[in-house]
Amino acid sequence: CGIVGIVGQQPVSERLVDALKRLEYRGYDSAGIATITEGTLHRRRAEGKLVNLERRLKEEPLGGTIGIAHTRWATHGPPTERNAHPHFTDGVAVVHNGIIENFAELKDELAATGAEFQTDTDTEVLAHLLARHRREGMRRGEAVHAMLKSVRGAYALAILFEDDPSTIIAARNGPPLAIGHGDGEMFLGSDAIALAPFTNEITYLIDGDWAVVGRTGADIFDYDGHPVARPRQTSVAVA
Ligand code: GLU
Repeated sequence: CGIVGIVGQQPVSERLVDALKRLEYRGYDSAGIATITEGTLHRRRAEGKLVNLERRLKEEPLGGTIGIAHTRWATHGPPTERNAHPHFTDGVAVVHNGIIENFAELKDELAATGAEFQTDTDTEVLAHLLARHRREGMRRGEAVHAMLKSVRGAYALAILFEDDPSTIIAARNGPPLAIGHGDGEMFLGSDAIALAPFTNEITYLIDGDWAVVGRTGADIFDYDGHPVARPRQTSVAVA
């Protein structure tokens, strides 16, 4: 039910969890975080409150200067660690708020071509679709665009590709998603409140938008893949 992301220069895992805490008011039943270190995706997930995720991170810290994190309010599949986001498939990590309405048909289709599902969530089809498009030879942006075209439903998304440790791809159709502009770092969050400790310079995505977020800026595209400009605003959210 909450999303945060950081494309940073400094370690991100503590900051991601702190930002998730600022989204606790939205409600959640489990949480998770993924980062890339030395070219590999890693994650920690936990049922229940964020203190459980923090305990996991204390036992097994997560390095990395890029990462995405999620608080889940389960809609498909029980609130277990197994179903907690981020979902990983073949070098792709996805966190999702919302509901993929046509996930059952997508899942059948993917399973018929050999995809093995690890969770009961609707979200996992997104990771498999992206992985399949990459295997077909699409570049990251193309894969995201193609995936969005085959999905029906409501989503805010943050995506990491293991082979690109300097970019998060975001997408929005329904649940809000804000890009935060920092100083040599960029941020992503369900709302400006989550990002207030980092920046008050915010660009809101609108429905149908997706964005390639790098350390120094974001390129935003509409549903048809055309580059678009969205206004940058100064938020009044308090850190
Ligand atoms: N539908 C997804 C799930 O059940 C995401 C729920 C959410 O918005 O947190 O895993």
